[in-house]
Amino acid sequence: MPLVSMRQLLDEAAKGGYGVGAFNVNNLEQVQAIMEAARETNSPAIIQASRGARKYANDRFLYHLMQAATEVYSEIPVALHQDHGNSPETCRSAIELGFTSVMMDGSLMEDAKTPADFAYNVRVTHHVVEMAHGRGVTVEGELGTLGGIEDDVGSGEIHLTDPDQAVEFVERTGVDALAVAIGTSHGAYKFTKEPDRELLAMSIIEEINQRLPTAHLVMHGSSSVPKELVDLLNRYGGEIRPTWGVPVREIQEGIKHGVRKVNVDTDLRLAATGAIRKAFAEDPGEFDPRYYLKPAREAMKKVVKARMEAFGQAGHAGDYEPISLEEMVRRYKEEGHLLTTT
Ligand SMILES: [Zn+2]
Repeated sequence: MPLVSMRQLLDEAAKGGYGVGAFNVNNLEQVQAIMEAARETNSPAIIQASRGARKYANDRFLYHLMQAATEVYSEIPVALHQDHGNSPETCRSAIELGFTSVMMDGSLMEDAKTPADFAYNVRVTHHVVEMAHGRGVTVEGELGTLGGIEDDVGSGEIHLTDPDQAVEFVERTGVDALAVAIGTSHGAYKFTKEPDRELLAMSIIEEINQRLPTAHLVMHGSSSVPKELVDLLNRYGGEIRPTWGVPVREIQEGIKHGVRKVNVDTDLRLAATGAIRKAFAEDPGEFDPRYYLKPAREAMKKVVKARMEAFGQAGHAGDYEPISLEEMVRRYKEEGHLLTTT
């Protein structure tokens, strides 16, 4: 099947009461690991690429890797999402390339570093919604900022999402999905101790969900940074300091309260690098890249499978027929999110 609208995947997830993991890719092995995990668990999938990934892989390579994924895994509904679009221009180029979903991150200015004000965020996000919905493409917005800096994105400061503003933001922009800041960070160093309810402000999700029960919420920076992956990496010469991620049970709590998309990147990076370090240490005489890329791909697949099962998306790949982007355009027109102005 062709690439599917992310909005459809999230609407179906809301109906089924589950969440969908969104995994980042830069290369062939990552695409294969995610698609294979989706097949083995019969899960719908969201694959996302940051600006850094598009630059690293080259847009045309990324596009054709995803075309191959839809051909080889034709039974799996998969959406291709632009992660952290920094400007309408980035989102436009993603849409032209064939992405079925874009994130306009107007919580930061175009440099992807300086926190932006609410008015700017509403204006720029609404602009992208008009452009994207006209092509049937999904839009994710972000309100509040995460900690950490990854792929050159982030101010490094945490600003939690204000639920009052979230209601106004969703109404004024018409976004399909809203990323909320609840105290998580991008990268491996999220928390210096096991996060409790104070560090991880799950109450913000609960409050926004109460006031916007139909909004699809997104958790960024939601790798769990499992101790066994960090330990393996360090056993073979890695130097990852003690750190905690977002516990899977907290994500599951979020899913009960409207979280439909869960971004996971770091866990795959840790799994791949650990497997490669182990392979290097075990046979220094080997020099065929397949010798270490194969276990890396296998380790990523294992993480993705575990998340797909934990988020509840496993078993749901065949639940629905994909809607074309043309049909999405028609639905958006009916919803009135296409021609409204603020
Ligand atoms: Zn993010």
